[in-house]
Amino acid sequence: MRYSLFNPLLLTASLALTTACGKAPEPPVAATVEPDNIAREYMQLVLALGEHDSSYVDAYYGPQQLRDEAVARGLSAAEIAAEAKTLLEKIDTQPTSEDDMFKLRLHYLDKQLQALAFHADSLSNGKKANFEAQAQALYDTTPPNYSLTDFDEVLAGIDELVPGDGSLSERVEAYRKNFVIPADKLDEVFQRAISECKARTAAYISLPDNEDFSLEYVQDKPWSGYNWYKGSAYSLIQINSERPIDISRAVDLGCHEGYPGHHTYNALLEQKLVNEFGWQEFSVYPLYSPQSLIAEGTANYGIDLAFPGEQKLEFEREVLYPLAGLDPATADDYAAFLKLMARLSYVGNEIARQYLNGDIDGEQAVTLLQQYSLNSEAEARQRLRFFDSYGAYVINYNWGKELVKQYIEQTDDQDERWARFIKLLSSPRIPSSMDW
Ligand SMILES: [Zn+2]
Repeated sequence: MRYSLFNPLLLTASLALTTACGKAPEPPVAATVEPDNIAREYMQLVLALGEHDSSYVDAYYGPQQLRDEAVARGLSAAEIAAEAKTLLEKIDTQPTSEDDMFKLRLHYLDKQLQALAFHADSLSNGKKANFEAQAQALYDTTPPNYSLTDFDEVLAGIDELVPGDGSLSERVEAYRKNFVIPADKLDEVFQRAISECKARTAAYISLPDNEDFSLEYVQDKPWSGYNWYKGSAYSLIQINSERPIDISRAVDLGCHEGYPGHHTYNALLEQKLVNEFGWQEFSVYPLYSPQSLIAEGTANYGIDLAFPGEQKLEFEREVLYPLAGLDPATADDYAAFLKLMARLSYVGNEIARQYLNGDIDGEQAVTLLQQYSLNSEAEARQRLRFFDSYGAYVINYNWGKELVKQYIEQTDDQDERWARFIKLLSSPRIPSSMDW
């Protein structure tokens, strides 16, 4: 079944539908004047804080005038924090409403502003908060806590799969070299993977007619891929090709950055909330905010949704391995190996936690990443750069995925799962309002 954004089955009554004559629906009545003013002030504060931290404003495609005004005010980070706190008090005095979308919108503005004030405070006092405080204040969640020894059993399982000499991380690095996409095949493999991700997404989601993306290969970045959403349903997707990229990453990144991940999320928010409801605040996306947990969580869960069961392995074995000139007969073993590796995902959170809380230094983090995440030294150093740049953001990938999975998998029906996914992608839900 094809799920359209406008399928009435998917939407709450307040998420008004297109009318028969195609006229844009009115936004929920209660959600107009005062929230629009709050939203406008919120946007100005996000854009103003972007002047103090170049990575903060991940996307903005609203009016240039608003950005000009925000910049012209020249607010310090401390002033931005103070204004955010005043605006939060204004939200507290808003009348309550039974309207779901109205409640979601105000709750979103409230939590996003709390995160903004927190980030502005830490930029202003020059002190980075600890891992737990960042997770709660910036991402509206408390991630689980593990000890590194919890992963010993998984490590033992991987040890059996990659026998030989040398440390386990060295053996893993050597084994993974067999699955690297040759540089001259990289673009062909990625284009094919993304078009498959898109076709599978388009079977369930009506994407805007004009939606499109460009793909670029870049180097010297602390991330492996990035989606720069430009508005009007267009994304620039960048893939970091400074280190070898293994075959499993093509579908992962195609789904995560493109379909049904970030590109789709941003395009649906723009279509539904910005264009139809006129809720301009969704044209700005502050990176260190609860919205990021939903963005990263849906982007990672989207891989499993688009390729349920063994479908990712089948597609890789039958299509991508031959395209990359790799031996398809090795695909099953590699998939089994990667399944175990995925179970080490939370190791990264724990090492980030220890590092950001000052319990270990950078060199110790690199050593632990090699030992417990089985990263090569180069990978470990890239991840350390990620911790330095983005702090506790790491939780959004695995813990975000887990929270999204719990939300989506309340049903076994694949159509229903896509329906819940679409609901998440086209409404102002954040972790504490996901199930409203
Ligand atoms: Zn992402």
